Amino acid sequence: MLSELRDWHDRNQAPIQLRQAQQSGGDQTAAIQTPGKSRWPTISDRPPAPSAQNNNDGAPDAPNPSTPLRIAIVGGGIVGLCLALALHRHSLPFTLYESASKFSEIGAGLMVGWNALQCLEEVGVAEEVVRLAMDSWLHPPDISVVGMNGTCKEEKSGGDVFFQYRFGDGRREEPICTVKSPGGQITIHRADLLDLLLSHLPEDRVRFRKHLVQFEHLEYGVWLEFSDGTKEEADVLLAADGIRSTMRRLMYARTGQVDLQEPRWSGCLAYRALVPSHLVRAAVGDEIWGTPIMWLEPSRHVVHYPVAAGEYVNFLAYKSDYTKGRAPKWDGPWVEHEVDEHDMLKEYEGCGPQVRAILELVERPSRWAMYDIPDLPYFVQGNVALLGDAARAMTPHIGNGASQGIEDVHVLAHLLAHPKVTRKTVSAALKAYELVRKQRAQRVKELSWCSGRMWDLSAPGVGDDAGEVERVIRETMDWVWGVDIVKQLGDPGFSSKTREKDGTCDTNTFLPSTLICDQLTSEKLSYAPLDPTSQDKTEDGGDKDLESREPAGLEGGPAVDARLDGAEWECPKVAFGWGLPWDVLQAYYKLHVFPNEPTSILLFLGSMSGMVMNPVGFVIGKIADRYGYRLCIICGTIFAFLAMICAAFSTELWQFFLTQGVLQGLAIGCIHPVVMSSPSQWFRKKRELATGIVLTGASFGGGVASFCVQQLLIRLFRLSLFRDPIFWSVAPAIFFAAFGYLGFNFYLQQYTIYRLPTLKPSLYAVPLSAVNFSAAICRSSIGFLADKIGVVNTFIGSVFMAGFAQLVLWNFADNFGLIILFAIVVGFFGAAFVSLTSVLGAKLFGVKDLAALRGLLIMFMMPGNAAGPPVLGAVFAATGGNWHIVFSVSGVWCVTGACCLLYARFKREPRMFAIY
Ligand SMILES: Cc1cc2nc3c(=O)[nH]c(=O)nc-3n(C[C@H](O)[C@H](O)[C@H](O)COP(=O)(O)OP(=O)(O)OC[C@H]3O[C@@H](n4cnc5c(N)ncnc54)[C@H](O)[C@@H]3O)c2cc1C
Repeated sequence: MLSELRDWHDRNQAPIQLRQAQQSGGDQTAAIQTPGKSRWPTISDRPPAPSAQNNNDGAPDAPNPSTPLRIAIVGGGIVGLCLALALHRHSLPFTLYESASKFSEIGAGLMVGWNALQCLEEVGVAEEVVRLAMDSWLHPPDISVVGMNGTCKEEKSGGDVFFQYRFGDGRREEPICTVKSPGGQITIHRADLLDLLLSHLPEDRVRFRKHLVQFEHLEYGVWLEFSDGTKEEADVLLAADGIRSTMRRLMYARTGQVDLQEPRWSGCLAYRALVPSHLVRAAVGDEIWGTPIMWLEPSRHVVHYPVAAGEYVNFLAYKSDYTKGRAPKWDGPWVEHEVDEHDMLKEYEGCGPQVRAILELVERPSRWAMYDIPDLPYFVQGNVALLGDAARAMTPHIGNGASQGIEDVHVLAHLLAHPKVTRKTVSAALKAYELVRKQRAQRVKELSWCSGRMWDLSAPGVGDDAGEVERVIRETMDWVWGVDIVKQLGDPGFSSKTREKDGTCDTNTFLPSTLICDQLTSEKLSYAPLDPTSQDKTEDGGDKDLESREPAGLEGGPAVDARLDGAEWECPKVAFGWGLPWDVLQAYYKLHVFPNEPTSILLFLGSMSGMVMNPVGFVIGKIADRYGYRLCIICGTIFAFLAMICAAFSTELWQFFLTQGVLQGLAIGCIHPVVMSSPSQWFRKKRELATGIVLTGASFGGGVASFCVQQLLIRLFRLSLFRDPIFWSVAPAIFFAAFGYLGFNFYLQQYTIYRLPTLKPSLYAVPLSAVNFSAAICRSSIGFLADKIGVVNTFIGSVFMAGFAQLVLWNFADNFGLIILFAIVVGFFGAAFVSLTSVLGAKLFGVKDLAALRGLLIMFMMPGNAAGPPVLGAVFAATGGNWHIVFSVSGVWCVTGACCLLYARFKREPRMFAIY
C-alpha cells in the first residue's frame, strides 16, 4: 500500500484512501513489497533462514543461523515493542524484559508521523495503524503550509489538514497558518497501538517483572542483573527503558558524567485528558472538533486532535515558565492523576472563547511535568545501545518522540539483521546505528524544545509575530515529518557490495559513514531561535558533524573498543624505551668503530630504521585494528630487544644495517602506529593533549636513554662548552626546532578530517604517510646535501623551510592536493635537523668527545619533544579550535630555531655564500 502511495507521490497524483483501496480487493501485501521498488531490501526480499518454520503471521520462528545473536530488549513501551516486532520479522531471536507486570501505556493520543509510518509498514502493521486512526488516510510527505494571507481562513476540518495553528488569546482567535498534507494526519490512541503491536508478537519471548538494575560488559556480550536477583547473559543489550532509563544512568555512571544521567525539567507543565467527541462538537462545532489545532498564547498553549477513530478528542493544555532558564528545578511529582480541573481553568483565565469552551469540558485531567534529557555524546557502549526515550527523550511540543524511537528501531533492526553481523562484529553495527541516528534524533529533540517556546509566543526573534511563526513552521515541518527514512540507512549497496568485498565489520567499511552523514547534515535546520551557533557546535566548541562521524569513544572510561585490548596503558611504557639515542651511537661509531666511513653512510644507517618502519607500520596498522594492539606491541618489543642484542655482537657495517636498520625498523613499525592511534581511540575531547602526553613517554625515553648510553660510552664531559657563545646559538636552535617538529605529525590527520570531512576514510592517513615517506627520503639524502653545501647551511635551511611550510603551505592547504604537498615538504625538511645534530656538533666543536656533546645537545630536544604537541593542543583549545593559530605557532618555533643558528654560522664563516 505505501509503495503504491510512494508511486503516487512520485507521479504527483491524488492520494489513495485506504478504505477505497481495501474495497478494491487488490493484493496489498504484494504492493507493499514490490521487488526493486524500495532502495532498501524489504524483509520479505530476504530468504528465510534454512531451519525457519513459519508461524501464523508469517514470521519464521527459528533463529537465522548466520546471525545467532541473543538479543535482550529492556523496556516494553512503544519503542521496545516495535523493536521486538521488527526483530521478530527479521527472524532474530530476542527476549524482552519489562519491569511492569503487564504492558500498559498511560496518556492518550499519539501522532504517528510519516517518518514512523514507513517503519511500521516494514513490520507489517501500518495499515492497521491507519485503520485505527481518525481519518484513515495515508499521506506521503507532501506537506504544504498555507499562511494567513492565503486560503487558511477558508480551510475546512479533516481532509488534508495536518495541523492548524491559531492564536488562542481573547483578542484574536484567528488562524496563523494551516499545515496541509494529503490525507491529514494519523492520530491514534496509545493503548490501541500497544495492543496492535502485542497481537503480532509471540508471548514466550516476553519476561514481565524483570527490572534491570545492573549490567556488565563481557568480551563479546553483556551480563544483565535484575532486581529479583536473577542474572541473564546476552550478546546484545538494547535498552528502550524510557526517559528515566536505568541503562542510561548505569552507562554514564561508569564515566562519571552525572549531568547526563537524569532528565531535566523543561519549565513546562501539561494537563492531559480525553474528552468525548460529541461534547466538543456540540461546544465548538464541526470544524474545530475535527481539526488538529494548536492554540498559541503567551506562556501557554492548547492542543487537541481527534483519536480512537473520532470517538474522543485528545486534549493537552501546556503552561510554561522560562524565566528560570532552560532547565529549572521542579519539586513537584512527575505525574499527578485526576487533578482538580478548576486549577487548570485558573491557569487559563483570559483565553479566547473557543479555547475556554473546550477547557470547560475537561474533567479531572492528569498533570505532567515535561522533561527532556541533555544531548548524549554516545548511545552505544560496547554491545549495549540506547534507543527511544532512553537515548534522547524530548519535550512533546512537536509530537515526534515515539516516531523518533520508531526510526531508531528501523535502523537498528536492519543493521542487526545483516548476515555478517555476529557476536564479534555486532558492536560495529551498533556504532553504525549511533552514527546514523544520533544527529537527527538530537536535532529533532532540540527543535521540539524550541517549538515549545514558539507555541508560547516567547521564542527569541519570533515572539508573537504570526509571519515568523509561519516561516519557522514552513521550514521545519517537512524536515521532521516528511523525512525519507530509507536515506538514513545510507548507501543502498552497502549490504552487498562494501562488506562482501573485504569481509570486515569495521565502522568505516561497514557503513559508508561519510555518505550517511552528508545526507543528514545536508538537511540543515534553519530554525535555531535560541542560539544559532549551537546547531553545529558541541559544548566545548567542537564540530558536531565531525564528532558524529566518529565511533562512540569514552572520555577516559572503560575501553569500548575491543581492538584497544587494554594496550593503551602499555603504549607509554613501551614508548619509554622507544626513543633510542641513535645519534649518540652514531657519533661513537664515527669516532671509534668506522672512522673511515663517510658521514652520509652512517646517517643512512640511522635513517634505515625509519625507512623500514614506514611500510611495516602501514601493514601493522591494519593488523592492529583487526587483531588487537597487544599483539603488535609484544612483537615490537621482541624485535627491539633482538635488535639491540644482535647489534652488540656485530662487527661489520652490513651487520649494523641488519640489526640497527632492519630489525630496529621492524620494532618501531610494530609499535609506532599503535602508540600514535591509541589516545585518539580512547579520548574524544582532549585528544590532542592526550596524544601529546602519551608520546611524551617516547621523549623521556629518548632523553633518559641518550644520557645513559652516553655515560656508558664516554664518561668525560666538556664543561667549557657552556662558556662558548656558539654553543648558546646551537642549543636554542635545537630547542626551538624540536618544538616545531612534532606538531604536524600529531595534528595532520585530524586537520585532514576536519578540512575534508567527505574524504574517504581510507585516505585520511595518506598525508601522514607522505610525511613519513618524505622524512625517510630526507634522512637518506640530507647527508649528501650537507656534504655539498655545508652542514650548518643545511641545518639552517631545513629548519627554516619546515617553519615556512607550516606558516605558508599549511595555512592555505584547503584541498587534498595542497595537504599532500605540505606533507611532502614538511616531512622532508622537518626531519632533517634530527639527523644533522651530530655532524653539526662535529663541525662547530670538533669530534673530540662528540658522543658526549651529542648527548648534551639532545637534551635540548627533550622539552620540545615532550611539550610541543601538548602546548599546541592547549593553543587549539584556547583559541576555540583555530587551526591557523596552531600552524603559525608551530611554524614560528621552527623559524626562530633557524634564526638562532645564524649567529654561529656567521661568527664562524662570515661569507654569505660559503659552503659551511
Ligand atoms: C504529553 C506527551 C505527549 C506526547 N505525544 C507524542 C506524539 O504525539 N507523538 C509521538 O511520537 N510521541 C509523543 N510523545 C513522546 C512519546 O510518548 C515517547 O517518546 C514514547 O512513549 C517513548 O517510548 P519508549 O518506549 O522509548 O519509552 P516508554 O514508553 O517510557 O517505555 C519504557 C518502558 O521500559 C520499562 N522500564 C523502565 N525501566 C526499566 C528497567 N530498568 N527494566 C525493565 N524495564 C524497564 C517501563 O516499564 C516501560 O514499559 C509524547 C510524550 C508526552 C509526555
